[in-house]
Order: sequence, then structure tokens, then C-alpha cells
Amino acid sequence: MLLQPLWTFLLGHSSLLHSPFFPVLFSLSVYLSFCLPFLLLDVLAHRWTLVRRYKLQPHSSISWASVRSCLALTLYNHLVFIFPLTVMHWYLRPVHLPVEAPALPRLLIQVLVCLLLFDFQSFVWHLLHHRVPWLYRTFHKVHHTYTSTSALTAEYSGAWETLSLGVFAAANPLLLGCHPLTELAFFMLNIWLSVEDHCGYDLPWATHRLVPLGLYGGARHHDLHHLKSKCNYAPYFTHWDRLAGTLCTQD
Ligand SMILES: [Zn+2]
Ligand SMILES: [Zn+2]
Repeated sequence: MLLQPLWTFLLGHSSLLHSPFFPVLFSLSVYLSFCLPFLLLDVLAHRWTLVRRYKLQPHSSISWASVRSCLALTLYNHLVFIFPLTVMHWYLRPVHLPVEAPALPRLLIQVLVCLLLFDFQSFVWHLLHHRVPWLYRTFHKVHHTYTSTSALTAEYSGAWETLSLGVFAAANPLLLGCHPLTELAFFMLNIWLSVEDHCGYDLPWATHRLVPLGLYGGARHHDLHHLKSKCNYAPYFTHWDRLAGTLCTQD
């Protein structure tokens, strides 16, 4: 039971895990902490060519106005839409925390399955919202405000998009009957990958460089999606775009 000490530690803070505020605080704080290193890189990229050479669009730079606007929309979506929904979920389905931790191999497999399911659901949602002009104009266009990506643009979306993707992410661990620790691990990985998708850098340790055989698109592919808008609809993996003939790998 490799994960038991970690789970026992978290159970020691069970009042926090049981709180109706926990989901929204967890989601916001994890998201902002993951964005922070990339924001720092954006500041350094202004001055250092060494950093700038990893940028996917070297001539783009972020402004404080865009940082403010992204932060404002993220906070607004969390407070006005996500918070009431998570409180309702907390009320209808009280948090149950088992004493035993999940086995590590089971956690890893379930996180991967949750991620593959989320990738598929997001691909279908995304393709539909590009192919139907009314859906694009009404719901998805706001996410395409920025043609070059930067970490904080990951959650620059309207309410419908934020809630749809939130529901996909929340439903998958429920569907698989995951342990709360598995659920937390999947949420953290999902937030990290969506921030990395939008970071605007092709770093040597990026996920798309670590996963072999071009199975993972990541930051390079999603930046191309923001630039061209007509390809790379899956957020993470490449197989659905490959099958649909919508994969593009270079500009
Ligand atoms: Zn995006
Ligand atoms: Zn799009």
C-alpha cells in the first residue's frame, strides 16, 4: 500500500475535504499554481533570447491587460457557475472518504482511462462547436480570442464551455467508481495538461516530447489549433484527429 501514508495524511484534513468550498478552492488554487511558472517564463522571455527560443510563436508576447482579463474571467466562471454547481453536487452526493488508499497500479490505470475518456468527449464537443457555426459563435468563439496561447488562456472560455468540460471531467471518475484519491490525481493531471496545452512553449520536458510515437499532441498541436482554428480538436492525444483527418503537425 504505497499510497496509504499520503491518504492517511489527507484523511487528517478530512474537514477540508468534506467542505463545500473544497472543490472550487482546489480547482482554482491548482490551476493558478500550474500557471505561475509559465507566467514567470513569459516575463523572462521579454528579456532573454534563451527563453524566447522555446516559444511556439516567438513574436507573440502577453500583456498585463490580457493577464487581468484571463484572471477575471476564470474567477467569474468559478464563482458564478462552478461554485453553485459543486455545492449542489456536495449536497446531493455527500463526500465519502474510505479508510484505505487505492492500490497504485489501479490508480494509474483509472487515471489513464479517465484521461482517454475526457480526451474523446472534449474532441466530440470541440469538433461540433467548430462545425456548427451557431455553436461556434455562441459558445466557443470566446476561447479563440487569443490566436497565440499563454498559460492563463487555458480557462479563457464562456460558461457553457467551462461547465461542459467540467462535467466531462467530473463524470468520468464517478462512472469508473474511482477512489477519491484517484479522482484528485486525475483532476490535477487534467488541469496540468490543459495549462501545458496553452503554455505557448515547446519545452524539452513537455508531455508531447515524453510520450513516444507522436501519440500525444500537447502544446504544439493546441497552439496550432488556436492559430489555424481548423485542425487538432482533441485536447491531448492525436488518435481522434488522425482518424477524423483533422490532425495538423506543422505551420
Ligand atoms: Zn485552447
Ligand atoms: Zn477551438
